[in-house]
Amino acid sequence: MLFSSIILSVLPILNGLKEDKASNVASRLLNEKNSHTPVPLSDEQIIKVASLSNVNHFEYVLDTILIPRVVGTANHEFVKQFIIKTMQELDWKVESDPFEETTPIFGRLQFENIVATLNPNARRYLVLACHYDSKYYRESDFVGATDSAVPCTMMINLAHILSQPLKSTLSENDLSLKFIFFDGEEAFEEWGPKDSIYGARHLAAKWEQSAYPKDNRDGTNQLHRMDVLVLLDLLGAPDPLFYSYFKETESWYRQMMLAERNLARLGQLVQYSVGKPDQYYFQQMSRRGGIEDDHIPFMIRGVPILHIIPVPFPSVWHTEGDNRNAVNMATVENLNKILRLFVAEYLHLQIPMVAVRATSSPLLFLLPLLSPSRVLLSYA
Ligand SMILES: [Zn+2]
Repeated sequence: MLFSSIILSVLPILNGLKEDKASNVASRLLNEKNSHTPVPLSDEQIIKVASLSNVNHFEYVLDTILIPRVVGTANHEFVKQFIIKTMQELDWKVESDPFEETTPIFGRLQFENIVATLNPNARRYLVLACHYDSKYYRESDFVGATDSAVPCTMMINLAHILSQPLKSTLSENDLSLKFIFFDGEEAFEEWGPKDSIYGARHLAAKWEQSAYPKDNRDGTNQLHRMDVLVLLDLLGAPDPLFYSYFKETESWYRQMMLAERNLARLGQLVQYSVGKPDQYYFQQMSRRGGIEDDHIPFMIRGVPILHIIPVPFPSVWHTEGDNRNAVNMATVENLNKILRLFVAEYLHLQIPMVAVRATSSPLLFLLPLLSPSRVLLSYA
């Protein structure tokens, strides 16, 4: 992605969501997504969601895909097939979006976005996305750990860990979860409108042309089914700082902030100092403009964007140092917990409590003393 100047400001209090009285399918979907609210989990449920961590699974997936995977290479094909197979084994419907485009250096190349959907019959989706290609360098084998093997692994790890509550809650639901693994995010020569985000440009244009429902003629298309596109990028280095980059999704950014603060309050984040304002990853600040990434083709078509990308970028960005050594597993686990909690609250997942073991959550017994109720944040 590309980074340029930004404007920084403190987050204001949100206004009420607008009501749209129009009657077409797009407006109904818009009303549904605008009126959608998260269901907060109890402290015990938050601890349960945190305790579901599976670091071995995370490391297995990361180590499998953390190889140079430039579009058009055998490694790229291997990683693509691994992602498809893994999501299929989790019982998600996996669709591929293959297309060809001309690139600098390599000429015509075959790209393929991977779209995995839980419950394809749902009307609306919370969409998580990352890119699975890695950047081409003539001189070195760049593996792109934060860019974006870790974000892809975070999504797969979330689907694996939450597979039971996701299946049982979302099999009949109107709202479900969709993953996009974009291809061709990286420029081959120099970042520009024709040399970057190949997959995102293709998929956004394709979905805009695809009517929903199929025979609908009022202009409603597949993009209208996206509640919000949560784009994960450049994650895994220690102490990331995130900001709200889009006014339209400030309420969902706050939900991420709240997830982090609740997990911290309950002692569920590792190597993390509770009570130090600067320690929070999700800053209570907004920054406007300046980052070009896979969200752009969706954003210009009106899809709400929640961009989870640190500013500044990791110091290893687009260097050989963006490898396994750049990945701080404590940070990654914290982010995994925050993302799981966000998804669980957004999708109203039923979190079963019976399997909580005293050994995995010793704080459970101290909770009444430490925290009799959920913290109400002053900025909420
Ligand atoms: Zn990159």
